[in-house]
Amino acid sequence: MNAEKKVLIVTGGSRGIGAATSLKAAQMGYSVCINYEKNSKTANQIVGEINSNGGKAIAVQADISSAKEVEQLFKITEIELGALSSLVNNAGISGPRSKLIDLNVSEIKHIFEVNLLGYFYCAKEAIKRMSRSSGGQGGAIVNISSQAAEFGGNHLTPYAASKAAINNFTLSLSREVALEGIRVNAVSPGIIETDQHDFPNEMVLKNKKKEIPMGRLGTPQEVANAILWLLSDKAEYVTGAVLPVAGGR
Ligand code: NAP
Repeated sequence: MNAEKKVLIVTGGSRGIGAATSLKAAQMGYSVCINYEKNSKTANQIVGEINSNGGKAIAVQADISSAKEVEQLFKITEIELGALSSLVNNAGISGPRSKLIDLNVSEIKHIFEVNLLGYFYCAKEAIKRMSRSSGGQGGAIVNISSQAAEFGGNHLTPYAASKAAINNFTLSLSREVALEGIRVNAVSPGIIETDQHDFPNEMVLKNKKKEIPMGRLGTPQEVANAILWLLSDKAEYVTGAVLPVAGGR
């Protein structure tokens, strides 16, 4: 399928990895829906940048932890941009860095509602539209996981567990929809320079870098490159894969 005819939703496209993915996708000819939760200013900046460079983008506010809001997000995208071909399930939260015993129940629930249920709601809406058996053209979904799924999280236990679940979600769903012409893969970033990290001082950052074989953090653009490859026809026989983008970590 020609990228010029492709329509992509990026959840959490207003900042970090989602913003880099939206910008790169637009350069490659995708029409892009940039979903965000609160940050309309940055979402609209990305849309402005894409549209002023000759691309096509819209920003749509929706909290992905609400199935109703997700339904609306997909309906609006279809009306404004046309038939959906691609989804990047990216919006995620790490939650408070804390021992489990110090988290309250609503904090724990919210991490799973965004990082896990939100991905399920979005995938369901995407599959409804992409499935060949319901008249769709097939498509591709990329879920953003984390290397925390493999190595655990340092006082981020619900976050790491939600990402481990995303790896299994990716594999199970890829098998379920393979004959519908839909590929489902995941990218598993290491430590990437985004708002998700707030290193308290230079020393902590220096020590973090020492844990990474390549000796540096990754950039959102480097993760976006992997996502766009998995979405593209160049990866047409790749499904159910979890691709680490982590500098060897
Ligand atoms: P980020 O810079 O913190 O941006 C998060 C994005 O998600 C924002 O666009 C935010 O929207 C959106 N968002 C948060 N909650 C949402 C909700 N309930 N509904 C809709 N949108 C919501 O994040 P990032 O670092 O780029 O991370 C992106 C993904 O990569 C996440 O799934 C994260 O877990 C994963 N990841 C990141 C790293 C890393 O080192 N950065 C490593 C491994 C995995 P607003 O702007 O409106 O708040």
